[in-house]
Amino acid sequence: MKKVGPKRAALLQRLGLMEAEDLLWHLPRAYQAIRQDISIAAEGETVVVCGSIAAVRINNYRPPYRATLLIPHGTIELVWFSGSRAYLAENFAVGAEMCLQGVLRSYRGNLTITHPKILKEAPPEGVLPLYPLTEGITQDTMREIFIANRNTLLDKCQELLPSHIVKRYRLPGLRESLEALHFPNSQDEKTLQSQRSRYHKRLIFQEIVLFELGRKLVNTAQRLRSGKAIATQLTKIVPDIEQKLGFPLTGGQLKVLEEIERDLQSSLPMNRLLQGDVGSGKTAVALTAMASVVQQGLQCVLMAPTEVLANQHFRLFATVLDEFCQVGLLTGSMRKKEREQAYRAITDGSWKIVIGTHALFTDGVDFSSLGLCVIDEQHRFGVEQRAALGRRNPGVNQLYMSATPIPRTLALTVFGEMPISSLQTVPFGRKPVMTRYYQGKAQYKRILQEIQQQLEEGGSIYIVAPLIEESESLDLADATRIQLELQKPFGTFGVELLHGKISSEARNSIMDRFTSGQSRVLVATTVIEVGVDNPNANYLVIYHPERFGLSQLHQLRGRVGRGYEQGHCVLYSPKGCGSEARERIAVLLESQDGFHIAQQDLQLRGPGQLLGVRQWGMPEFTVADPVRDTKAWEFARLEVAEIINSDPALTAPENRQLRDYFTRKQILTIVH
Ligand code: ADP
Ligand code: MG
Repeated sequence: MKKVGPKRAALLQRLGLMEAEDLLWHLPRAYQAIRQDISIAAEGETVVVCGSIAAVRINNYRPPYRATLLIPHGTIELVWFSGSRAYLAENFAVGAEMCLQGVLRSYRGNLTITHPKILKEAPPEGVLPLYPLTEGITQDTMREIFIANRNTLLDKCQELLPSHIVKRYRLPGLRESLEALHFPNSQDEKTLQSQRSRYHKRLIFQEIVLFELGRKLVNTAQRLRSGKAIATQLTKIVPDIEQKLGFPLTGGQLKVLEEIERDLQSSLPMNRLLQGDVGSGKTAVALTAMASVVQQGLQCVLMAPTEVLANQHFRLFATVLDEFCQVGLLTGSMRKKEREQAYRAITDGSWKIVIGTHALFTDGVDFSSLGLCVIDEQHRFGVEQRAALGRRNPGVNQLYMSATPIPRTLALTVFGEMPISSLQTVPFGRKPVMTRYYQGKAQYKRILQEIQQQLEEGGSIYIVAPLIEESESLDLADATRIQLELQKPFGTFGVELLHGKISSEARNSIMDRFTSGQSRVLVATTVIEVGVDNPNANYLVIYHPERFGLSQLHQLRGRVGRGYEQGHCVLYSPKGCGSEARERIAVLLESQDGFHIAQQDLQLRGPGQLLGVRQWGMPEFTVADPVRDTKAWEFARLEVAEIINSDPALTAPENRQLRDYFTRKQILTIVH
């Protein structure tokens, strides 16, 4: 692309932008109006002013430096609180004519612009897109790239929606919409600002239709395959498993197992979601169900989202089912030789139970007779992966597990008609985690004291921060700095840093050192959210809880108090937070019930995009929001049902584009 060399390409990649098409879908997060007529501009608006410099005051030793710009209807004060005098002297000589851009303020009755930007030429009055950025790429760079490649980009827009839908809802075209969003017109300013312009609505509708249709295609394909009816005999196997586990299963667990058994015994492939808080006993349920399938001579697989978790599950299964069947492990970081051994044991059927990560669904992994596939922490598993799983193992029974209960009102949107089993019980042997909220720098000392005390008593500590490294644009605590800071007081206890950019091998050994107590303080990003287990860690500090969703905080809180000791969770806002955030945090202080917390989160959730819906296992949407866009969802579902009923293979000419799209995504192939 024009204006993108290797260096910029690398930076764009950090934003997930690999191809031209990705750039098209990198939508502005907001818009900024630029006004030249400052008589109609409001304070805080970005304006462009053209005039000549009437006075310059830069001779004082220290900033602020000042200058006065004479414009047709008055003057504007220019102020610099930092910067080089040489630069100012060079550019702002008395009499110089120029156009400047900046944010208009009124200070002591004077119109003021701080740190104005010199423009080479006055841009036309208008609206500018503001893109999500990464360090090293500025708004100007981003806009420059878009402008230079305008036509190349827009030519890639292919209408996807069938024309009757476009007509029925009077939607603007895809090309027209993306053009309007990236190259905005000033008439559209207001609606663009609200993110509810007709162009936004069109993209939202399209995204929902594609999502719903993709899911329907996969489900239909699955239903068309007859699965194997497996004559499991739970009642026979349960006492045996209970003995191996060392505890009796609860009524709740048995009820869920019965639901699972009914699915297994039917010849329709199972496609069920099991939800329950961390520690509610899902793994024990999965283990029992898998054992019952193995007993019928079939293989089972359990897929975890991370290697840490896969290793953990593997150790548990291998121990508990030691005499019952062979359990194997397959992860991406295994050496080639080990991996090939694993492939062989899977293909010849000697491994009855296989635990692993996504590596389980790559080429080379062919089960001899797969009966049940369990997917733990399902929210990292999208419809494309489900399609791939179904393609490789037609008709296989699938059980999805989620530790983030989804609010009832959202379940249909998120999971469609997937049947749901719930473990509503409080986690086993768990005392409620004592949760407190600290705010302001003054409380930091208290936290240090509490950490000190915990460490002296032999406990381990988690610290969670929203960022890995310091960011210029966000004033937030970062894990790297916290780790450095804590080295001083607690270095002798071992303070380690864990985040997603650390290689999985290094991550495993960090986790090993932490669980074995060699290091006792773990500073991390939310990577520890998923299932990491250290029963000796009873104290957790979460920096900037206002930045996280409630369900996510609840998940994080589930990391502590897993042994017999009292767990503590300190939510810490170094700079305090607003009343809205405090209201949300209060929910967490009062409740330990994941279902209740999720429901409250939904109710209290403002339009704030920040928290997102990812925490509930939503696929990531670009523009759609399942909480906000419920009406659009209703209509989309109707349209999708009509498409599926009248043309399930998408062979009609007007569904041609959809057909190509889902074929490209490898979702459609399994229909035939
Ligand atoms: P989840 O997978 O939902 O996080 P687990 O199945 O790992 O939950 O269970 C959490 C803890 O509770 C484990 O230590 C497990 O051994 C224990 N546990 C599970 N079921 C029972 C039960 N019926 N009685 C007592 N302890 C149980
Ligand atoms: Mg689990």
